[in-house]
Amino acid sequence: MVSVVIPAYNESENVARAAGAVSRVLEEAGIPYEVIFVDDGSKDATWEEIRKVHEDNEAVHGIHFSRNFGKEAAIFAGLGQAQGDCAAVMDCDLQHPPQTLVEMYRLWEDGYEVVEGVKRTRGKESGAHRASAGLFYRIMSKAVRIDMSRASDFKLLDRKAVDSLLAMPESNAFFRAMSSWIGFRQTQVEFDVQERVAGESKWSTRKLISYAVSNIVGYSSAPMQFVTGAGIATFLFAVLLGIQTLVRYFSGDAVEGFTTVILLLLLLGSIIMISLGIIGYYIARIYEETKRRPRYIISGKI
Ligand code: UDP
Ligand code: MG
Repeated sequence: MVSVVIPAYNESENVARAAGAVSRVLEEAGIPYEVIFVDDGSKDATWEEIRKVHEDNEAVHGIHFSRNFGKEAAIFAGLGQAQGDCAAVMDCDLQHPPQTLVEMYRLWEDGYEVVEGVKRTRGKESGAHRASAGLFYRIMSKAVRIDMSRASDFKLLDRKAVDSLLAMPESNAFFRAMSSWIGFRQTQVEFDVQERVAGESKWSTRKLISYAVSNIVGYSSAPMQFVTGAGIATFLFAVLLGIQTLVRYFSGDAVEGFTTVILLLLLLGSIIMISLGIIGYYIARIYEETKRRPRYIISGKI
């Protein structure tokens, strides 16, 4: 059986449509399935919709969060409840075509343990959104060392892969990177990103930036190396300037270097502050992780 995990945040218009499309496609292909909707603390009627869909179709289950914990938390909650021999994750807005699930399932039957959906095209997005998402993926790919430009959360995982993901204790989880990090026999399926059927994208540019920063800090120590790099660069600069100053001093024409002093103070001051900020991010993350809070709180299930 395949468990299809669908995180949903304010998706009341899409729940029934997504459940219908997924069950139709899987029933036609003769694949036993269950659908797990994770209501990520929606403010609209998403939970009532899930309840309604469950009344029509026993194979549809739901989890309700006590508040909005984010898509990553929703994915992990769904995987935690999944009973299937494999589990797929897809979006509620049908941007991930359900037909691709069948293709993924066949690959899983062929023995692949992690089947990743990669975007052939990115679908329609506004110019600003495309630009910010592009920048986000470039930085992320560098930091995480996985090509993120075409990666998506549309994946099918074997039970073994699901269990290894669930065994990872970090409270700030990042599904895309973690499901690639775990290894196993991986393969890819291309899909065309569809247009969102209803409602609007939940990602503002601000949310995207904070997501990028939090995942870069969570998945890479590259910014820390920047601190070391900046330190080495200023040290080399200091040696050169030091030699020049000494030569001038001994040759007797030391200038009244007020401008130099101010410039150096400003430069060093900013480098030190930026470095402290970067280190601060990591300390904040360590602090978050040491609190050992749960990733999410479930307030109801059907
Ligand atoms: N989502 C969620 N919690 C959030 C934001 C989004 O569970 O805080 C879900 C949303 O309901 C959808 C999926 O994550 O099923 C992708 O969201 P969206 O379509 O807004 O993102 P995009 O497709 O624009 O990347
Ligand atoms: Mg979407």
